[in-house]
Amino acid sequence: MTATQPLPPQPAGHPHFHYRDGALYAEGVPLQTLADRLGTPLYVYSRGALAAAWSSYRDAIGGRDVLVCYGMKANSNLAVLKEFARLGAGFDIVSGGELHRVLSVGGDPAKIVFSGVGKQAWEMRKALEADVKCFNVESEAELHLLSDVATSLGKKARVSLRVNPDVDAGAHPYISTGLKENKFGIAIVDAPKVYRIAAALPGITIAGVDCHIGSQITEVSPYLDALDKLLDLIDGLRAAGIEIEHLDLGGGLGIRYTDETPLAPATLIDQVYAKLQARKLDHLKLILEPGRSLVGNAGVMLTTVQFLKHAEARNFAIVDAAMNDLIRPTLYDAWHGLLPVQRRDGPTLEYDVVGPVCESGDWLAKQRMLAVERGDVLAIESAGAYGMVMASNYNTRARAAEVMVDGEQFHVIRQRETVEDLLRGESTLP
Ligand SMILES: *Cc1c(COP(=O)(O)O)cnc(C)c1O
Repeated sequence: MTATQPLPPQPAGHPHFHYRDGALYAEGVPLQTLADRLGTPLYVYSRGALAAAWSSYRDAIGGRDVLVCYGMKANSNLAVLKEFARLGAGFDIVSGGELHRVLSVGGDPAKIVFSGVGKQAWEMRKALEADVKCFNVESEAELHLLSDVATSLGKKARVSLRVNPDVDAGAHPYISTGLKENKFGIAIVDAPKVYRIAAALPGITIAGVDCHIGSQITEVSPYLDALDKLLDLIDGLRAAGIEIEHLDLGGGLGIRYTDETPLAPATLIDQVYAKLQARKLDHLKLILEPGRSLVGNAGVMLTTVQFLKHAEARNFAIVDAAMNDLIRPTLYDAWHGLLPVQRRDGPTLEYDVVGPVCESGDWLAKQRMLAVERGDVLAIESAGAYGMVMASNYNTRARAAEVMVDGEQFHVIRQRETVEDLLRGESTLP
């Protein structure tokens, strides 16, 4: 199982994460310096990578009327939100807590869309008071509650119905939210009826049609399949006297974790507009809700090798990060690239990279060829999306710190939690 070490591949976050003389950098800062100064596990983001991801949407849009609402559940650190707000982004929120975050960094409520299957009355109230752009409503019951809450405030809620287009799973196995059996959205066959109900409710104004068919999508075809169905719906609504202003196609654009070729925003937007023009529906305003594709490859997680353990069947690199810090590998069987922060010469061994949590499911990477020693720092790639936001305190482990690199500078954007933080709020019986 030994071999000479292959050159690590180009970092997934290239060019913002790159090697210089064997040392891995985020922009102008060596990651080893960050690990030494701030400790590990540590989430490291690149401001330049966030801006570049944003530009890939902005450039693709050109002069067209497209609102990009960052699907902020992917990474909701205030510094990340502030950066996108500054760049002109709107936000796709899924809770009252997320609304609070956006408003606290000065995000524009007129660019907020509120998604989610289980919105509570207090969350609706907060969003109505903030005057958000639109509620993406996912059931008839939600529509009634929203109308009641709006009416009690003397307001009208602008809504889109999140329609479930039942995009063919056979052809597109990665799609996991746009199928009949998923909990999300309103079945497209029921949508005309629910729109008629919405049109009659006193607290509701119909604004759009919405869908979000899944995540880590690398092909344009599922979007176009969904779009065809939505445009048929919009035509039908128009014939019934219900006018739609905007079309929200959700998020879901994939990123490169290993060798995927991601779907470029330009490809999606150009093809969507081609269809809108062909159907004479290009007066519709377009909303997109990308999450992962704006942040996923703008972040890595640093972790230090604590012990090497050579068992009969496997070699283990036991690191100081665990499933509580990055749950994607064990939750989704997700593959994340692994790079040495300092390249090391010498033979490689095949390792499973595992954490200290007392679960066999606590692994970060399996069967990777590595030349590592105790104390080495590894960078887990593509950790900018669904990383820190999904971190927990399992095993009473304090959550990692987060740092944003900006050129030669870096800024701690979240302090490392302390054990005292974890105990706050708990009490023993009298
Ligand atoms: C999660 C989510 C997004 C973002 O999805 P990505 O795959 O990260 O782009 C957008 N819209 C809704 C409704 C979501 O739930």
